[in-house]
Amino acid sequence: MDLSFIINELGEERDDYFRAIAPPIVQTSNFAFKTVAEMRNAFSDEYSTWIYSRGMNPTVDILRKKLAALDGAEDCLVFNSGAAAIFAAVLANVKSGDHIVSVKEPYSWAQRMFEVILPRFGVTVTYVDGTETANFKNAIRPETTLIYLESPNSWSFALQDLSAVAALAKEKGITTVIDNSYCTPIYQRPVEMGIDLVLQSATKYIGGHSDTVAGVLCGSRAMIERIFNSEYMNIGSGIQPFNAWLLIRGLRTLPARLERITRTTDTVIAFLKEHERVERVLFPLDPSFPQYELARRQMEGGCGLLTFIIKAESCGTIERFCESLRHILMAVSWGGHESLIIPKCAGMPPEQFSSTIEMHRSLRLYTGLEDADYIISDLKRGFDAIAGLP
Ligand SMILES: *Cc1c(COP(=O)(O)O)cnc(C)c1O
Repeated sequence: MDLSFIINELGEERDDYFRAIAPPIVQTSNFAFKTVAEMRNAFSDEYSTWIYSRGMNPTVDILRKKLAALDGAEDCLVFNSGAAAIFAAVLANVKSGDHIVSVKEPYSWAQRMFEVILPRFGVTVTYVDGTETANFKNAIRPETTLIYLESPNSWSFALQDLSAVAALAKEKGITTVIDNSYCTPIYQRPVEMGIDLVLQSATKYIGGHSDTVAGVLCGSRAMIERIFNSEYMNIGSGIQPFNAWLLIRGLRTLPARLERITRTTDTVIAFLKEHERVERVLFPLDPSFPQYELARRQMEGGCGLLTFIIKAESCGTIERFCESLRHILMAVSWGGHESLIIPKCAGMPPEQFSSTIEMHRSLRLYTGLEDADYIISDLKRGFDAIAGLP
């Protein structure tokens, strides 16, 4: 389906609301029926009707249609966070005694679910280095029901060969789920590679303005309908109409923003790679990246998230660098208009810092919608502030 059609028209029945260009926010909790027969009919199939906004809502429906089409999937559910999308997708595919094979170091709240919540219900997880498909094959047991992927990983950018893992899972009747937050469906389409369920944090690029938390889950109609009638309705964490409206607005400019950010990121990477205080840059679509060939094969773009390793002997030097920046903000998340940075050492007590461990010296940078020169001059300010410091 044409991208411009999806973004500008799909799902928008303007004749139903005064030919308004922007869709209405149907801010209602419930919907009324004229006859008992109508009501009875609705009760028999909540998935296809308006009854109550914990289930379906017309504003959310416009968004669902667009997001499903973007992923090339039959259907979609939108949650009030990416974490809720992860929770529902995983929960829907395990029962007591089942086993999950997950890529190592998945998004932190996926990991928390695997390690804190699922063991209470007798579900076990094996983590594998996903850069080798054979590792998945070796970890699969008779009771494995789910393979959990995140490609690229949002810190190390480690990739999995999605077509190969999907083929392996299909052969064994195992469901595959991927966290596709890094690429969005604009830059990577896992459904076409055979992955069953594709999720992303819409907080990042879909929202795009750092003002909404939301999550997307796409898959076949059968899988999505099953999740709707169970986990989605039970967890009660579907997106609210106003937030759905913000995401529809975010979608209008998604390809334009990604295109701009992609160009800026290339310029920023070229600057970083030349700088004497930068040991190396990690970015899946940089030729120096170990899985560059695979990235080229299954991703159409890399966008704004990269990691660079700074040459520093102490945690204090990294702190000084970050605190000297005037425009690049120190904050979690990414995908918005503003450039952001997180030093890995912020996640550990300073006395644990060891300059011999490369990951401790890593900084994750997100390049936003500012001019490349504006971002680069700020990075220069940071490097200048640590000139001469070990
Ligand atoms: C942010 C993020 C999530 C979680 O999304 P929320 O919208 O914050 O709940 C999941 N996966 C990745 C890779 C993320 O970056």
